[in-house]
This record gives sequence, structure tokens and C-alpha cells, in this order.
Amino acid sequence: MSEQMKPVRVRFAPSPTGHMHLGSGRTALYDYLIARKTGGKFILRIEDTDRKRYVPGAEEELIEGLHWLGLDWDEGPDIGGPYGPYRQSERGEIYREYARKLVGMGHAYFCFCTPDRLERVRQEQQKRKDIIRYDGTCRGLDPDEALKRVANGERHVIRFKAPREGVTTVHDLLRGDITVDNQTIDDFVLLKSDGLAVYHLAAMVDDHLMKITHVIRGSEWLPTFPLHALIYRAFGWQEPVWVHLSVFLKPSGKGKMSKREAAELGKDGYSIFIADLKQSGYIPEAVVNWIALMGWSYDDRTEFFTLSDLIDKFSLERLNPAPAAINFSKLDHFNGLHIRSLAIGDLAQRLRPYFEKGGLKVDPVILEKVTPLVQPRITTLDDAVDIAGFFFLEHVEPRIEELIGKDLSLRESAEIAQKSYKALESVETFNAENTETAMRQLVEELGLTAGQVFGILRVAITGQKVSPPLFESMEIIGKQKTLARIRYAVNLLENSVEKGYF
Ligand code: GLU
Repeated sequence: MSEQMKPVRVRFAPSPTGHMHLGSGRTALYDYLIARKTGGKFILRIEDTDRKRYVPGAEEELIEGLHWLGLDWDEGPDIGGPYGPYRQSERGEIYREYARKLVGMGHAYFCFCTPDRLERVRQEQQKRKDIIRYDGTCRGLDPDEALKRVANGERHVIRFKAPREGVTTVHDLLRGDITVDNQTIDDFVLLKSDGLAVYHLAAMVDDHLMKITHVIRGSEWLPTFPLHALIYRAFGWQEPVWVHLSVFLKPSGKGKMSKREAAELGKDGYSIFIADLKQSGYIPEAVVNWIALMGWSYDDRTEFFTLSDLIDKFSLERLNPAPAAINFSKLDHFNGLHIRSLAIGDLAQRLRPYFEKGGLKVDPVILEKVTPLVQPRITTLDDAVDIAGFFFLEHVEPRIEELIGKDLSLRESAEIAQKSYKALESVETFNAENTETAMRQLVEELGLTAGQVFGILRVAITGQKVSPPLFESMEIIGKQKTLARIRYAVNLLENSVEKGYF
């Protein structure tokens, strides 16, 4: 495909109107991949013309999200570039100039209709069950007359003069030709009465001036896609390659994801927002891998991709316009795989903030030793706190009922704990191998199962019933602390025996 040969210029053009979600992450990822693959440019443009919907902090969140995913850009509001400014709120004058230009070319016109009048027209059309659209009152105004009214300060907007007859055919890379009846294309407002451009004008002007070769965007823009192509054509500009990505379906695969359903997901620790995924201990490598496959595939088999694999293998050709279900078990799966492929030092650094958030004081030497034990056992980074938080505690507080071995009494459990203490106390070089040997010998002497004895020991040392391998954990904790924890458990058990509990 030719766009794989020629360097592309693509833009990610988010509106700072809310949290960065999977959809924006995926669009940005595909932009980034095709730019890197072809040696082209990836541009960040902030579409903040709609001041009413502007959410403070949303732009920062977007930038942070992109950095976190590892998608760096070549031109943007923070780093500049040859076609700036890259924030639409700083380009108002440019849009006004181009809107006027379109009026001058006869492809747009000034409209003086009041909101009240437009509302009446809308209601009448609704009553008659007509298509709801602007009725064209100002379309036929004499241009000089209209200019005079504008010069006199009369309130106005600029509307696109859409063709009234015939059809318009546009081409989407994934869907082929799309033909619509021109009756369905309204005379959309391009410039509002406050002089601010709407998306239809601003984005087209920017894409042209920024020399965008491929417009990759969400499928919510398909209904107005013909209008956008017509704007390009009215100016006589060469159209970019248009790519409208697939919609996301909710995890069940039934229907589009709604805001309410998105919130529901949070209850299971899942989210469609990038910042939440980071918070819940998903790693960017996994999120990238996961979203890459929501609408694109390499072949029917390969599933594990790093960002550099993706740059190597990505092609627009293999994008799929069919709706993609959001499958969170897949995300868990990828997160596990990518966690296991991290270098220990790297994983340790990523785990650290989760332990700290869990209120633990992290000793770096212990962290480095604990990480390999945790690596095969966690799905998300925050799982490490549950599994391995005990390594960073001075004391653990085992629950008495968990200290009682399987099919054993309180008294028997206390005796086993005491004997374990003795057996381990005599181990000179306190490593996993030696402690295991000592404990297995004890198991044999007692005529019990390893599960019964080790179970008591595990709860005594870790405070929990499930933990990383026991003897390796003891080695990391060290002889002194291990013995202190067993001593504590013995006391707890003996006190309970005395008090006649259970
Ligand atoms: N600002 C638009 C949005 O966030 C961008 C769409 C586009 O990429 O053209 O939906």
C-alpha cells in the first residue's frame, strides 16, 4: 500500500472535554504507528473551540496519557512545529478568514436567522415529519446586501452552501465509497455568531494547512463525513485519505458502550479511561497491545506485540471496520504477559509506587529480591501489594483461626509452631534450601503432611494463606525476623489454648 512507502502526516486531534478513554488512545496509537512506520510525522492538535464543553485539566490528562502509552509526537502545542499554533483556540483568525473566503467563492453564505425563528422552523418540520434542516431563507440573499448587513453589525452566522440536488460520493479507506443523497446534507453552520468556528470548518482548515495526508478518526464522524469532503472540494483542496475506525461495543458485545455502563465497570476494577487503568496497575505495554487489536490484526494467530513490533507490523490495510467488543479479560491476559516479560529492575521500579500507596516503607534491596517472586503471580501491579506487602512490614498480624493447621487442634498447632521455631533456629545458613530441608525433616518426624505444617508456618510468617514460595520468602525476610514472627504466632496460639478458645 502506498501510504506505507510515503511518509504520512497524521494528527491526533482530541477535544479537551473529558477523560481520555480507550477510543482516543486507540486513535492516537494508530496515528503514531503509521507515522513511525513510514518515517512520517505525528501531530498533536488540541481541538478546544467549544468553550462550553471545555474541561479544565483535560488537556493535561491527555498529554499525560499519551506519554504514559509511549506515543510521542513531532509537532504539537507544547513543542511547536512549522504549522502551528496547534491549539484551535489560538487559530480563530485563520478560521474566520477561511469562512469569509468560502463566502467569497459562493460556497457559503451569511445567515441572519434568529434562534427563535430557527426553532419555529424546526418545530414545523417536525410536525410535518420533514427532514430537520435549515430552510434556506438566507441562502438566496443578495451577497452585497448581506455584506452590508454584516458591516452594520447585524448578528449572523456563516453557513455552508450544500448542494441541493444529486448525490455526493466520498471514499473511506475501510468502507470504500459511500454515496449520500444531497438532500440529507444540511447547510451546516461553519462559523457561529460569536465568530468561533465549529469542528466542521476548523478541522478541515487545519487538516489542509497542516498538510495532513490521512485523517484517522472515530466513526462518530461518518454522518458528517460527506460535508467534510464537500468543504475540501469547495476550497479546491486535495482530500486526505479518510479512515473512520470501528466503534467499541460493551464487553457483552451487545450495543454501544454508554456512560452509565462505563461507570458500572468501575465496580469490577475495570475502566474505559486510560488514567484509571494506570491507577489500577495495568502497564502501558499491555494497554497498547490490547487496544491495537481492537480493530486491527496482523494475522489470525499473533497476539503479543510490543510497541516496536507494532510499528514494524502495522498497516492501515488490516484495520477492520467491524465493531470491536471491549474485552477486559483480554486486557488482564496481556497485562500478565507483559509484566512477565519485563526486566526485574524495571518491574521493581513500577511496583514501588503501589507498595508505597499501600502505606508500606519500601526497602530497595528487599524490593529487588521480592520482584522475581511476584512477577509470575500478578495480573496487575497492585496485586503485588496483596501478595507481597508482608515483606515490607515489621510485624504481621496472623489471624488465630488461620494459624490452626488443617485437621489439627489449637494445641497441636501451637506445638507444631514451637517445633518449627526450634528446627529453624538451628539452621546456620538461612537459605531456602536449608530451611526447606529442616522443615521437611520435621514434617517426617511429626508424621504429618507438608501441607499441614507449612500452612501454619506460612500464616505465621506472611500473615496470609496464599503467598509466594514459603522458603524463598523466609530467605528474603531473614532468620531473625522469621523467628520473631514464628515466636509471635506461638504466643498467640498458646494464649488461646490457655484461654480455652475454640
Ligand atoms: N476533536 C474531535 C474529537 O475529539 C476530533 C475528531 C478528529 O479526529 O477529526 O472527536
